[in-house]
Amino acid sequence: MIEAFRTARTCPLCFLEERDAHRYMENLLYEKVNSVALRGKLIRSRGFCRRHAHMLLEFGNGLGTAILYRDQVRAFLDFLKDRTKPTARITKRTIPESWSHDSLCPACTALARMRQVYLNTFLEWINDDNFRAALEQSNGLCVPHLLLILRKTRDPSLHKYLIAEHIEKYSALLKELNEYIRKTDYRYKHEKRGREKDAWKRAVNLLAGAENSL
Ligand SMILES: [Zn+2]
Ligand SMILES: [Zn+2]
Repeated sequence: MIEAFRTARTCPLCFLEERDAHRYMENLLYEKVNSVALRGKLIRSRGFCRRHAHMLLEFGNGLGTAILYRDQVRAFLDFLKDRTKPTARITKRTIPESWSHDSLCPACTALARMRQVYLNTFLEWINDDNFRAALEQSNGLCVPHLLLILRKTRDPSLHKYLIAEHIEKYSALLKELNEYIRKTDYRYKHEKRGREKDAWKRAVNLLAGAENSL
């Protein structure tokens, strides 16, 4: 985690979660495509959630994806065919209701577990001097991660510390946004762009969390 504080351009916890999401998908495509357990889970969850299904596509692994999603196409076809059977009429549930399910996307489930590990690790180490120094030098936590951490601890001095640190970091970003906006004015357009050039992207990541974090 300290390494993530030092190197991540985004929120370090988002950085770790994005890395895990990538590793999870990679491991699944290259080692688990034929796992009966995983395929069973995917059948129960009706595949991945939209975000993780599209993340799967990014690997461009045709065979692995075809095998996993052949299961999904078959399952939906079986479901539709079942609706045409006379016995299907006795149910009061609509077709969308019958297809919906309680089982979560397996990638979301695995990543939620990792998220708890990171939140607990953060709180276990936050009073360590090296850990604090690394946090203070980092870009700070995004809003969703900061709120999760604040929700997980009731220690008032820790709340005070984390809030003060993040007021400082978010204020620095606010200045950069002001600077970015100022330089779009034709009167200042000739000024060289500095660190603020991607502040608008960082602001979105900061408020929403990184794209592929949980
Ligand atoms: Zn984050
Ligand atoms: Zn998911």
